[in-house]
Amino acid sequence: MTEKIPHAYVIGYPVKHSRSPQIHRYWLEFYGLAGSYDLAELEPEQLGPFINFLRQAENAGANVTIPYKQTVISHLDAIDEDAQNVGAVNTIYKEAGKLLGTNTDVYGFLTHLSQSVPEWHDDVEEVVIIGAGGAARAVLLSMKKANKINVHIANRTIGKAQNLANEIYARAKPIELSKLNTVLGSADLVINTTSLGMTGQPPLRFDVAVLPGHTIVADIVYSPLKTKLLQQAEDRGLRTVDGLGMLLHQAVRGFELWFGVRPQVTGELRQMVEKSLVSAS
Ligand code: NAP
Repeated sequence: MTEKIPHAYVIGYPVKHSRSPQIHRYWLEFYGLAGSYDLAELEPEQLGPFINFLRQAENAGANVTIPYKQTVISHLDAIDEDAQNVGAVNTIYKEAGKLLGTNTDVYGFLTHLSQSVPEWHDDVEEVVIIGAGGAARAVLLSMKKANKINVHIANRTIGKAQNLANEIYARAKPIELSKLNTVLGSADLVINTTSLGMTGQPPLRFDVAVLPGHTIVADIVYSPLKTKLLQQAEDRGLRTVDGLGMLLHQAVRGFELWFGVRPQVTGELRQMVEKSLVSAS
């Protein structure tokens, strides 16, 4: 009998910008595993048929990116607790013949934060999350899981920040983005989850001078790798956490589920993705 070669994909629209093929192909080669990982750019009407295609035996699963992280849920047999709590799926896998969804962004964010600033948990009481979009959901759940009690969500659209608090973490306090400075003065950890600062987007207007000298500044935007926010924080001597590590660490669980090996986020992998981000910017 011939061994089946597992195939995995990243589905989204657009999806060409995704770094996931680079990451998973690196690991397939690094561990000498048979398998493939490909882009699948899908129009909305192609989503359902593609999920049915994933049910074929040779397919192991997929990553899911914008705009399907929520709409894909109705096509799956079940989603796990993390995906339920975040309200979005970024990884599809198979178990006992069922197509299941999980969300690995919470693990990715917390793992990278802990590796970048190992003492963060003890140092942080007051958290300010900027943004209330899809990625903010996972970051807010991360803070809930880490038992952080004082969390503010600053967003341009205050109603979305309120919804996030209602759905994910009732302790979190919504504020308007224009009032950000009122909470920065006591912030121990500030996390940008908006798309501001990303290549092609305006920068986040942010005065790092109002932060205390011990604040940790994280930005989940990874293109460019060093956003203006991170540069300003670094210039002030603050501890910083970039967005690339979250991207690399969130990929670990998917690879393990599809190809059977828990991969390491190596320095070589990071350098390779960094290089491609620099050449694309
Ligand atoms: P999203 O759902 O579209 O949310 C965008 C957020 O940015 C919202 O809070 C939105 O505010 C805010 N925003 C956008 N334009 C703005 C403007 N001109 N002024 C003020 N606020 C503005 O996007 P997402 O999926 O959460 O992604 C956000 C960023 O995170 C992207 O850069 C993405 O690449 C990055 N990301 C990184 C990782 C990683 O692994 N490192 C993972 C996921 C996402 P409103 O609610 O008011 O519109």
